[in-house]
Amino acid sequence: MPMPYQDSTLGVAERVEDLLGRMTLPEKIGQMLQLDARQDLSELVLEKLAGSILHTSPAKLVEAAELVARTRLRIPLITAEDCIHGHGFWPGATVFPTQLGMAATWDPELVEKVGRATAVEAAATGVHWTFSPVLCIARDLRWGRVDETFGEDPYLIGELGAAMIRGYQGEGLTDPTAILATAKHFAGYSETQGGRDASEADISRRKLRSWFLPPFERAAAEGCRVFMLGYQSMDGVPITANKWLLNDVLKGEWGFTGTLVTDWDNVGRMVWEQKVCADYAEAAALAVKAGNDVIMTTPAFFEGAQEAIRRGLLREDDIDAAVRRILRLKFELGLFENPRTPDAARQREVIGCAAHTELNLEVARRSLVLLRNDGVLPLPSAPSKRIALLGPNAHDVSAQLGDWAGDSGQVDWMPDGHPRELTTTVLDGLRSLLPSGWELDFDPAVEIERLVPDPDGETFPDGQPRPPISEGVPAAFEDLERARRLAAAADYAIVVVGDTVNLNGEHKSTATLELVGGQIALLDAVAATGTPMIVVLIDGKPLALPPSALQAAAVVQAFNPGMRGGQAIAELLLGLIEPSGRMPISAARHAGQQPIYYNQLRGQHGTRYADLTQDPLFAFGEGLSYTTVVYDGLSIEEPDVAADGVVRATVRLTNTGTRPALETVQVYVSDLVTSVTWAGRELKAYRQVTVEPGESVTVTLEVPAADCTLVSADGVRIVEAGDFELLVGPNSRPSALQSAKFRIS
Ligand code: BGC
Repeated sequence: MPMPYQDSTLGVAERVEDLLGRMTLPEKIGQMLQLDARQDLSELVLEKLAGSILHTSPAKLVEAAELVARTRLRIPLITAEDCIHGHGFWPGATVFPTQLGMAATWDPELVEKVGRATAVEAAATGVHWTFSPVLCIARDLRWGRVDETFGEDPYLIGELGAAMIRGYQGEGLTDPTAILATAKHFAGYSETQGGRDASEADISRRKLRSWFLPPFERAAAEGCRVFMLGYQSMDGVPITANKWLLNDVLKGEWGFTGTLVTDWDNVGRMVWEQKVCADYAEAAALAVKAGNDVIMTTPAFFEGAQEAIRRGLLREDDIDAAVRRILRLKFELGLFENPRTPDAARQREVIGCAAHTELNLEVARRSLVLLRNDGVLPLPSAPSKRIALLGPNAHDVSAQLGDWAGDSGQVDWMPDGHPRELTTTVLDGLRSLLPSGWELDFDPAVEIERLVPDPDGETFPDGQPRPPISEGVPAAFEDLERARRLAAAADYAIVVVGDTVNLNGEHKSTATLELVGGQIALLDAVAATGTPMIVVLIDGKPLALPPSALQAAAVVQAFNPGMRGGQAIAELLLGLIEPSGRMPISAARHAGQQPIYYNQLRGQHGTRYADLTQDPLFAFGEGLSYTTVVYDGLSIEEPDVAADGVVRATVRLTNTGTRPALETVQVYVSDLVTSVTWAGRELKAYRQVTVEPGESVTVTLEVPAADCTLVSADGVRIVEAGDFELLVGPNSRPSALQSAKFRIS
């Protein structure tokens, strides 16, 4: 006779209460635990009574499903994974460009499709939940996790983040191809000191409300079911204990009723790292009272929370509230009826399937940003040419896939990464696409790094592996000579440089933004030959480029373009596709320019450093096409707008070249006088339009007056009546923008 909680005809609330009423305290606390499945799974499930696991290998996903049958109440496990840009830790799954690469498409529809494809693949493997998307705002390029973000602008991040969430969660949680999305890392984690990962974030509540919270508010409104915390503390309060942010803002103001998960061992870190709690009982009490539900990878929370109750630091009711939210999620996913265990037949159908590969190629194509071009690109198709393909990232699978994929370091079951044949490097792409009769010489020529052990030891105090140190390898004279000879003999030199996964990611912030190892010497050597040089950047963040790269005939920014990246790059170089990506983040000339984001507050002595301009190397929104598009005739329909009205404008785009363009028409707003200092301009809308050669297109633009906000001195988001400027153009540089005034009454 099934118990009421097992009866699917009953409502979720009733089932939750029935189940909760049958659970012992250890079973309840166990439900809150999300443990690392790389450890002994039966111990996690049968002894710690864990309700959730992460980092579960394909073999263990099968084992996990069987273990549940041996638990007293048979509460299904919820399995979570970092499907960050595709289901990257599943052998052969589709690995898309990283979030930063996806952001360069500026295309929410594409990003939603990526979320959907990822969910379809992940769901077939028995994964119910992804820790994605990252909604952090990347402002200091030295931070190691810039590649995981959608860039620097809150509006763009909100658009793309919301799209990705829709993709993951599909038609709703009962859809068996839906997975839970996670808005992370809530909030302010990216505002690091000196770029150092997880340091105290010097950030006021007003600053949070101004830039860092809006993408998360958008995610909550989109129905994102889970929020994950960051690692930092703010004003001395570890994020795990930040009741104001978790309870007052997220659950109170925004009405979020979903589930909160801590980040990795956040509860433990309050004891051994931040040292704000004397022991795990104190830490457990603090975390639960602040509103956390799922406690990621702090096994000692199991005993700590029980001890906290014994000591009177916590009441069982507090635990019940969290467990209710977790159980509700499991019921809503329908896991009691269909535990969504791995489905081998379905995996054969969807993992890395042709439709996802085609989508991946499309995203990679759209993610490429052409930053400089003196006319060398696209390469002419005749007469036949000789190409020298040089540089360490021209044929490097892991640099191309980026972090959170295969052997990037987080999981232990893919030591050799993804099957090699699934990734097309730039070398592979050129080999298959160069017109017949063309010659191709390839030589990586120089190395980027060698890995040396960290003198502080192989593990952190919590036992997690400490990444090795990346040490630059200088160029050898003979290697440069070889590269120089190949370049000199070629009609074009394509030099693919950038960084590696060891220079990106958690714990891997960089002090500089320079190209590491022998790469600058390689660029200098090739430039000195006089052969037209095309620089392709495969990297996790915009890097500061040496003069030789800046004087190159062309520069293409590819970030980490995923499995199809090499094909997309070859197509772009050969003019088989049109470049259309736009920078989702500003690039610096020098690390000392940090932070260099475009929407800075007004007010500063002068506009430059004594020894360097403050102008970014490449600005937010920047990107070229193979044609020229002229913007003119910006006109506002009705410049007097009511507070609940909409600013409507048109602008004319004329393609004066011979190739089609996919333009991203960017709309910024400048509030001319503000009661508090505010950004000189902020992105409020954009539209992507195709303009055929010779064609003129009139584009209509709309910005609701209600979006022309600022955050007042006391932290309230408001519209201040008065004069504004609408700034429209192809990128955020003031010189590129048309302007027209309007007034909000
Ligand atoms: C990262 C999260 C990630 C989690 C699980 C943490 O260290 O900050 O972004 O989702 O680990 O792998």
